[in-house]
Amino acid sequence: MGWLSDRIVRWQREQGRSNLPWQGTRDPYRIWVSEIMLQQTQVAAVTRYFERFIARFPDLRALAGADLDEVMRLWSGLGYYSRARNLHMCARRLVDGHGGEFPKSGVELAKLPGIGRSSGAAIAAFAFGARAPILDGNVRRVLCRVFAVEGYPGRGPVERHLWEIAGRELPERAIETYTQGLMDLGATLCTRSRPACHRCPLRTRCLAREQGRAGELPSPRPRRAIASRATTMLVLRRGDDVLLERRPPSGIWGGLWSLPQFDGDRRARGDPGTRSALESAVARSGYRLISRRALPAFEHLFTHLRLRVEPVLAVVATPRATRVREAPGEIWLALDEVESAALPAPVKSLLLRLRDG
Ligand code: SF4
Repeated sequence: MGWLSDRIVRWQREQGRSNLPWQGTRDPYRIWVSEIMLQQTQVAAVTRYFERFIARFPDLRALAGADLDEVMRLWSGLGYYSRARNLHMCARRLVDGHGGEFPKSGVELAKLPGIGRSSGAAIAAFAFGARAPILDGNVRRVLCRVFAVEGYPGRGPVERHLWEIAGRELPERAIETYTQGLMDLGATLCTRSRPACHRCPLRTRCLAREQGRAGELPSPRPRRAIASRATTMLVLRRGDDVLLERRPPSGIWGGLWSLPQFDGDRRARGDPGTRSALESAVARSGYRLISRRALPAFEHLFTHLRLRVEPVLAVVATPRATRVREAPGEIWLALDEVESAALPAPVKSLLLRLRDG
């Protein structure tokens, strides 16, 4: 074993994490679900969601047989919803095309929806003891610091260099402990800000520490301008119900239920085109308009987009037709059920304010 893997394995055994709900098992299903949840979210936030998810979908077949809406509802709040859609798609693919069995190599796992090279390697290591390097955000940070790797790790050449290091340092034995140890070290000691170098098992050989550059590495992502967009949301209210429609499968909040939305320029709500689109949406609902007013606008920040949301509340009553039906892709949701519904976080807050206001 090289010096790095030797120290990490010893440190993991003595001080690494060992009581996480997805540890102490070889069940690839549980390991896979946890790896996907952990892709963009920290352990502390994932634990509660993981337990709830596994209680409802205890195995691959239960998940494959589930309705996507229910999967999304249990994911609601974890963010990055494409992960949930891919999880569901992947479960179906494994049941339909692989006899309900997970492939045993990281390379094969990485070909499935939403897994990727690093998660594939981690699942293969934890479930099957397979030997392959991982390179998630935490591991990138550790390797950038220990070997003083310059450049933003998301850039192709830097990333390739990091994969080479990750492969080179892989031990022959104890792959699970090593993989877990690298993750633990990045999450608990070699943290983004204020790394605990004085307690780190790698401190005597870490170049960033030696050069006093732990705070500078890894190099930050080059600045990218954040685009701005405005959208109008229609809150069509009928008694204590509001109308929701399903978002298109890709793009912002893809596949989630949300309020009907009309994208416009910076003055979305005042735009004549938007106004007439709103009027036809109300007319299409088949209900009589009682009142309409603007609700306070708010901003929601995505990684690359600042979205200004300008909601309009339209209260309707008494159907004009004798029978009013939901169109496909639409539902009326009781405000009381908003809390547990799979809605984008800012839409949920808006509707909760309406319920409580
Ligand atoms: S010594 Fe500090 S910077 Fe280097 S790996 Fe350990 S915690 Fe990270």
